[in-house]
Amino acid sequence: MPRAPKVDHNLCKGHGICYDVCPADPKVYEIKGDPPKAWVVNPESCIECESCVANCPEGAIELVDIEEAGPKPES
Ligand code: SF4
Repeated sequence: MPRAPKVDHNLCKGHGICYDVCPADPKVYEIKGDPPKAWVVNPESCIECESCVANCPEGAIELVDIEEAGPKPES
């Protein structure tokens, strides 16, 4: 089972570091909303490098089975 990120929006402060470090094309994340949060818009493009997990200063990201990834904007 491929993995992709799950973001805890109770911890996410919308810094956008996950977006900046993500090497995937297209990027896995979008940062949007008020207050801004990281949304998982392209989980299928994740290459499981864990750069976002390692660089999130809030510890808000983990990799999970792709079916559990998110949150997605519509969820
Ligand atoms: S694990 Fe890597 S490829 Fe996947 S979302 Fe995080 S930074 Fe992007």
